[in-house]
Order: sequence, then structure tokens, then C-alpha cells
Amino acid sequence: MHYVTAKGILSSKNGMNLYRGCSHGCIYCDSRSKCYHMDHDFEDIEVKENAIGLLEYALKHKRKKCMIGTGSMIDPYIPLEMEIGNVRKALELIYAYGFGFTVITKSNRILRDLGIPTVVWLTPILPFINDTEDNISGILDMCMEAKVYGIICFGMGLTLREGNREYFYEQLDSLFPGLKEKYIRTYQNQYVLDSPKNENLMRLFCQKCSEGGIVCNNRQIFQYLQTFEERGSAAQLSLWEM
Ligand code: SF4
Repeated sequence: MHYVTAKGILSSKNGMNLYRGCSHGCIYCDSRSKCYHMDHDFEDIEVKENAIGLLEYALKHKRKKCMIGTGSMIDPYIPLEMEIGNVRKALELIYAYGFGFTVITKSNRILRDLGIPTVVWLTPILPFINDTEDNISGILDMCMEAKVYGIICFGMGLTLREGNREYFYEQLDSLFPGLKEKYIRTYQNQYVLDSPKNENLMRLFCQKCSEGGIVCNNRQIFQYLQTFEERGSAAQLSLWEM
């Protein structure tokens, strides 16, 4: 872990990365790709020491309330968060200034800050590894049980490009010997690697979402994520006041 002083914190679309790098170790992680120009080891987490000050400044000077998002590049609920607490501090500020918040995470550390209406981002599904009906069906059953609002899914597959492809293939060699060659034979250097079972799995996905009352129209879900609900709505109250 190392500290840096950042120049800004919010992107033009009101997204933020409180940390840079991730220690979850997903072998398919797109954030390793060279196009993101990370100049340190991916597992050597960069902490923006002035992130909270920058965020407060940005929130104070925003003319209109909106949703502030985090987690699209890097999972913010890495183990280090329990020590540093930047996500928690950011949430407190966002709440105090009356903004809304969206977060993408795969960590159950989020339970510390619970009460959040949930959308699942169902990706990636790894061809020849977990692209089975049983797996997708099981995930969808859990989503229904958890009463998620919606599931974002662009297809059953994953993306690979320079930087994360090499790492993914290295991991395949060590975890699934022989599978790298099958990937190369099937997909060469493609960026989008759809599962050969994509069509069937997507049919199953749409059918189960419809049965379970889960929204699976991506456009509708993104609109939902961008919608700032006035304080007093269930969505806002549930975060802090339950
Ligand atoms: S949690 Fe997300 S950012 Fe972290 S390694 Fe996995 S895919 Fe990458």
C-alpha cells in the first residue's frame, strides 16, 4: 500500500475511485488492462490521502444533487478499507450533503454499511469454466431470494485485452491446465469472449428474471442508478436510519 496526493476525486460523471489497485485477485480483472495506465503493481493499493477533503470540496460546490458512484474500476471494499475507512467517511459526507450513492462491490464488507437497494452486475461468466445452467440458475435464485431490484447483463462471457489477457492466461495455466489453448483456439485475440452457450443461458436469464420480477433491461437499470431520490424516500432512509 502507498499514499498519493490526488488532484481531483470526482469524474465528469460523478464517479470516484478512493483507492487504485485491488487485492481481491480475480483472474479475469479488466482493471489490470494496460489502457488504464496503472504505474504500480495492481495489488499494491494506492490510497488517495486527500480523497475525503477533495470529496467534501466537490460536494459543497455542486449546484445540483445527484448520484455519486464508486466501484466501476476498483472494488472499494478491499480489506484495507476496514483499516482506512475511506468508503465509510465518503458515505457519511455524501449523506450529510444530501447526495445519493451507488457502489459496485463483490465483498460482503459492505454489510458494515448496510441498507442499500441492490442491483447485480452479472459478469463475467467464464467460458468452459462456469457457463453452466446450474451456475446461472443458482445465482438467479439467490438474487430472487435477496430481492434485488435488477440485474445488469450484457451477455454470458468475459472481456480480455492487453494486460489482463496475459494475467488471465497465466492463471488458467496454473488453475486449469490446457484451457488456455482452448481459449486461444476459440477466440484468438478477441476482446469480447461470449460463451458458446450464450444464447441458451441468456434465454434462461430473461425467463427467470421475468418470473422473479427482476428488472433486466440494462437501460432501465442504468437510469435507476442515475436517479437521485429525494431524502425521505425509502431508498435513502434505508442506508442510515433503519
Ligand atoms: S474485485 Fe473487481 S477490481 Fe478487484 S480484482 Fe476483482 S474484478 Fe478486479
